[in-house]
Amino acid sequence: MKKISVLIPCHNEEKSLPLLYLELVKLMDSTPNYQWELMFVNDGSTDGTLEQLRQMRQKDQRVNFVDLSRNFGKEAAMLAGFDYVTGDCMVIIDADLQDPPDLIPEMIKWWEQGYEDVYAKRKTRGRESWLRKRLSLLFYRLLQSSSRFDVLQNVGDFRLLDRSCINALRQMRESERYTKGMYSWIGFKKKEVVFDRGDRVAGTSSWSFRQLFSLAIDGITSFTSLPLRISTVVGFIVSMLAFIYMIYIFIKALIWGDPVQGYPSLVILLLFLGGIQLLSLGIIGEYIGRIYNETKNRPDYIVRNFNDEKLL
Ligand code: UDP
Ligand code: MG
Repeated sequence: MKKISVLIPCHNEEKSLPLLYLELVKLMDSTPNYQWELMFVNDGSTDGTLEQLRQMRQKDQRVNFVDLSRNFGKEAAMLAGFDYVTGDCMVIIDADLQDPPDLIPEMIKWWEQGYEDVYAKRKTRGRESWLRKRLSLLFYRLLQSSSRFDVLQNVGDFRLLDRSCINALRQMRESERYTKGMYSWIGFKKKEVVFDRGDRVAGTSSWSFRQLFSLAIDGITSFTSLPLRISTVVGFIVSMLAFIYMIYIFIKALIWGDPVQGYPSLVILLLFLGGIQLLSLGIIGEYIGRIYNETKNRPDYIVRNFNDEKLL
């Protein structure tokens, strides 16, 4: 019998968990020809999430949970899940029921037909602020046009991955993780299913605007070095212009002499160049910071215990 794992990263989801569990039980009962494993990753919740996971496991041995030592963020929590799931395939799903479990049977159907990465594409994005929607569209367009492979728009982590994909993802241990890009990077046979993304059933989104912004920067820096290229090109163009201007000034001084003038143009040039230099330095800094973090080679997450068994 094939085994299907469901990976659920949870951060302060005590209100959503019971509802999600009910849905998942319904799903598991309606597909008895598979063995199921629920893998919850408690990503440093400060509410009753862990307590609920314990209670669920007492009643239902299909429930497993990895308890992380603090909040490491969804990307790291998912990696922890990748390391712990044992299924022949794995479905990643949010705890807040924004990803409908009803879609899973369809995903399994495609998986059985040989697709290795069945991803869910949202037709609608659920309730979200106008600015957030705009910014996220802009971000996808930027990433799309600057990297060599497709990072799909309106596709999140909700997907079914074959064991071969899980193993591939487990090899990617970088600490600035942008998992959405990794799904594309690893390749494999992909299939799209569409769904309507609803609103959270309970609780609030744990992603602050700042976190999303930093995820976006991670996405760009970890999958493309285009910003570095841009600063090179801009630097080149500016020096070409400066060179032309230099010749102009030189000839002007030769012909008409130099009655000391040109304060405005001097200041403008100074500010302009200073700005570009700072910007380029900042871009380089972003990448160096990441190199620095990566060279520390720290684990991406720390597990306190698994199913309440202390780890050695
Ligand atoms: N999550 C997590 N760690 C975090 C933030 C979020 O494990 O630091 C989980 C969260 O519990 C949920 C999923 O990631 O299951 C998606 O989070 P959320 O609903 O806040 O994100 P959104 O739907 O707004 O993208
Ligand atoms: Mg959500």
